[in-house]
Amino acid sequence: MGTAIHVEVWHGDAALAQRAIDAVLEQMHHVDTVMSPFRPESELSQVNRNAADAPVAVSTELAALVAHALRLSELTGGAFDITFASVGYLYDYRTHTRPDAATIRRSLPAIDYRHVQVDPQAATIAFTSPGVRIDLGGIAKGYAVEQSAALLRGMGIEHALISAGGDTRVVGDRFGRPWMVGIRHPRDEYGIVTRLPLQDEAVSTSGDYERYFDEDGVRYHHIIDPGTGDSARSVLSVTVIGADATLTDALSTSLFVLGVERGIELIDRLPGYEAVIIDRHGTLHYSAGLVAP
Ligand code: ADP
Ligand code: MG
Repeated sequence: MGTAIHVEVWHGDAALAQRAIDAVLEQMHHVDTVMSPFRPESELSQVNRNAADAPVAVSTELAALVAHALRLSELTGGAFDITFASVGYLYDYRTHTRPDAATIRRSLPAIDYRHVQVDPQAATIAFTSPGVRIDLGGIAKGYAVEQSAALLRGMGIEHALISAGGDTRVVGDRFGRPWMVGIRHPRDEYGIVTRLPLQDEAVSTSGDYERYFDEDGVRYHHIIDPGTGDSARSVLSVTVIGADATLTDALSTSLFVLGVERGIELIDRLPGYEAVIIDRHGTLHYSAGLVAP
């Protein structure tokens, strides 16, 4: 998944705790094997190669997650769209590569989640249009972290913290106190903007400082506005808190695209989900449930 995994488990039985940590790492590895766009033999890569020609048989797990991603496209009015990759693959942040305007214009029609057809029963995925690619980078880490939390609870672990990049899920509390998770300052690697108390819930942050390059004063980064094929630039970071890490992950990416006004409006419609958005001037905006009465 191209990211550091952090697992913290508290349990009286050290051997069990170690087995639990091993199980989480195995789960992360499994998700990466199925969903990595960088592994030519991953199910995801096979879909991208073949789904425009004929439906591709996949695991029920991948079919279900893609179906979930498509529902989130509906929920977010298309801000979350795994077909962003139809243009997104043309960027390489490490080598400072980006598509020019004409190339974006040519590939942009391929960005539309409605081009993706999933049959969850048959476990197949098909694309109804050529040039479509999907990428689960905006949801797979949250999913892996959520699956890992379920795995730990199944093993009898009641206090744990799992994080993969910007996605964190805590199990239980930290011995009578909440887990404290900091929101990084978007322009100061070591600065913390605020700390959030968490208990049995998830937090995801999306920022424009993870994968990016600057060119002529413009930042090209890894969160793509499906409407333009260009990086979304109205905010610097979005943090979403809620019960389910799969959802907080996808929503943090979505709100990044939607911006302050439409983002807060969306999160305020979702019971149990809250957000902190840092706009491009560095001002913090909170969803209704985080504003002191
Ligand atoms: P991180 O990967 O740093 O945790 P995010 O959770 O915000 O950050 O996810 C960013 C990733 O989401 C990108 O690297 C890309 O794979 C994917 N992505 C980018 N734009 C979109 C979009 N509009 N809809 C869905 N996924 C996206
Ligand atoms: Mg995300």
